[in-house]
Amino acid sequence: MVKLRLASAIQQDSIVDGPGIRMVIWTQGCEHHCKGCHNPQTHDINGGTLYEVEDCIRQIKEAPLQSGLTLSGGEPFLQASALIPIVKAAKEKGLNVWAYSGFTYEALLEDKEKFALLKLLDVLVDGKFIESLKDYRLTFKGSKNQRIIDVPASLKQNTVVLSAYDEKNTQLEKL
Ligand code: SF4
Repeated sequence: MVKLRLASAIQQDSIVDGPGIRMVIWTQGCEHHCKGCHNPQTHDINGGTLYEVEDCIRQIKEAPLQSGLTLSGGEPFLQASALIPIVKAAKEKGLNVWAYSGFTYEALLEDKEKFALLKLLDVLVDGKFIESLKDYRLTFKGSKNQRIIDVPASLKQNTVVLSAYDEKNTQLEKL
């Protein structure tokens, strides 16, 4: 049985981790060590609790009234292979899938396993949290360097295409 190391049980009904009402998978383990990280308890790669992938898939299939799934943490891409079947199940259910990562989009393209997860996503919010660039007015991201990326459009056009969800942020960043 493949297992996933999570910081907490799968959350339902989030309205702040992407658009609509969403399930959130809080992965355990992160090696980016961003100064000012809001979730330092998720850094220990041996911490958290192990959950069976099949159990996560069952929870996603059974959850009512969710419009999307968000992978957060922690660093989700450290457990890319375990997350792939979960994301596939979410997509089969019609959920849109977002992921937050301290890796950049370009870095994820370079790693076979991480790319296999990336290409299943609708949206990636990429890059480390940089405290000096944080702005509480930003929507769905913490610091100005991060990008809310339309993954299918980016892969198709072979360049980073920002999601419409980043448009308001782009205006703010000009202020
Ligand atoms: S990538 Fe996210 S979880 Fe990891 S240190 Fe940075 S802000 Fe914290």
